[in-house]
Amino acid sequence: MTELPEIVPGIVYLVGAGPGDPGLLTRAGAEALSRADVVVYDRLADDALLSLAPATAELVYVGKQAAMHSLPQPRINELLVEHAVQGRLVVRLKGGDPFVFGRGGEEASYLQEHGLPFVVVPGVSSAVAVPAYAGIPVTDRRLASSFAVITGHEDPTKPESRIDWSGVAAGADTLVFLMGMTNLATIAARLVAEGRSADTPAAVIERGATPGQRVVTGTLADIAARVRRAGLHPPALVVVGEVVQLRERLAWYESEPLAGRRVLVPRVRPRPSETVRLLKAAGAETTEAPPLRREVLPPHPELLERLAAAGWVVFTSSHSVEALLEQLSALGADVRALGRARLVAIGAAAHACLCQRALKADVVVATPAELRAEDFAPEPGGILVFVEEGGDSHVRHAVEGSDGEHLEVPVLRFAVDERMSLPTLLEFDAIALASSGTVRRLMEVYPEGPAPDQLVVSIGPATTATARSLGVHIDVEAGEASPAGLVQTLIEHLGDTGA
Ligand code: SAH
Repeated sequence: MTELPEIVPGIVYLVGAGPGDPGLLTRAGAEALSRADVVVYDRLADDALLSLAPATAELVYVGKQAAMHSLPQPRINELLVEHAVQGRLVVRLKGGDPFVFGRGGEEASYLQEHGLPFVVVPGVSSAVAVPAYAGIPVTDRRLASSFAVITGHEDPTKPESRIDWSGVAAGADTLVFLMGMTNLATIAARLVAEGRSADTPAAVIERGATPGQRVVTGTLADIAARVRRAGLHPPALVVVGEVVQLRERLAWYESEPLAGRRVLVPRVRPRPSETVRLLKAAGAETTEAPPLRREVLPPHPELLERLAAAGWVVFTSSHSVEALLEQLSALGADVRALGRARLVAIGAAAHACLCQRALKADVVVATPAELRAEDFAPEPGGILVFVEEGGDSHVRHAVEGSDGEHLEVPVLRFAVDERMSLPTLLEFDAIALASSGTVRRLMEVYPEGPAPDQLVVSIGPATTATARSLGVHIDVEAGEASPAGLVQTLIEHLGDTGA
């Protein structure tokens, strides 16, 4: 008798991603993403959120982007059902809050009609957070005791508008319009016609809560003309009311030296980058490219024999610990295959990763350079070093000086993640090259190379030499070959050229 496949209903998490800054995702949202089988997402202000999903998760883009059209809503609804009926955990990731002009209500209704379970994970709505990032509190005891959030999508001059404009104009002290850029002039005029003073302060905030945030302020009388002159584009929202005045003193987010600057940081591995941390602290919008995914390599043919004979096992990263354990499990083995070998952890992350698996490291060093040949002395036998493919473990100095026979075994590699799109190179004001490897990665994914007028900064002489040999122009080399030196150089060369 053939068995029918068991039907396990899946579930859909409608998750709010927040408005821009990836730090505004809730913990519940991050948790759902970390368990996702499929992520169905709109255009997001920050792709970093997608990397919270497992490397095996399917990523389905359904939003609008440049030339691509967004999927029609009924198709998105069906897509959620199609994945969920296969028993998958689906995360529907939306900007801001899913139930604030996000059509999350329609998606939830469709799931409910199809008998599929769903969970709503609210998000930080742009309606409140974007004004906050522009230094505008939507309420304030001195100036406003109410606020309303209104769609600006409807043209107020059209008779079929479903908005009660006189009610809106008089109904709340602060008015926040989402999707209001196209109709900005008619909205402002209509509010004045309905009795709001033409002097009422107004602000338009473009790409709020992202390092690309731009803000234009004025009054209902002139805001539309000012915004046109400044050339603001969606996504942007409009705030109307006396609270806009507070921005003059409360603007806190746009004052950093690299605010509004976009910097590309090519990378070879998904390691937290000190350069990126410092660039963000200076207010820059950074993109690490290309997106990477970790792939565990097939186990070395003699892995188990080698482990059994090894006196020492060196883990060069937390990734190498995880990859080896995955290989062992694929071979039907487990940690006991490490036998009597003594363990070396390079870096706190590798150490923590071993501890989590109840493995005690015999030697822990912060960096490969700290490892000494003497460290291997008390234990005879071979030394196995688990490394990343193509990477240099930087432990040769220590293992070569010791008595043991040593072998570097690649256990994983970081491949370009084709599930995620690559930003166009021309979007960036500058490219920060932190090593020779990153120059090679840059040219691998962007064979056309940087444009002649793009600022390209190198961390030091070796990186500069590699860049030049690959035909990449270097405008400036950091005064000091360190991430701090690199970022300082960028501030000196980008911070003063005017946005
Ligand atoms: N669910 C979302 C809103 C979706 S409607 C939320 O709760 O925020 C999309 C509109 O939101 C855009 O047209 C724009 O008006 C506003 N918006 C979203 N993100 C924004 C951002 N980072 N900066 C400015 N406006 C934003």
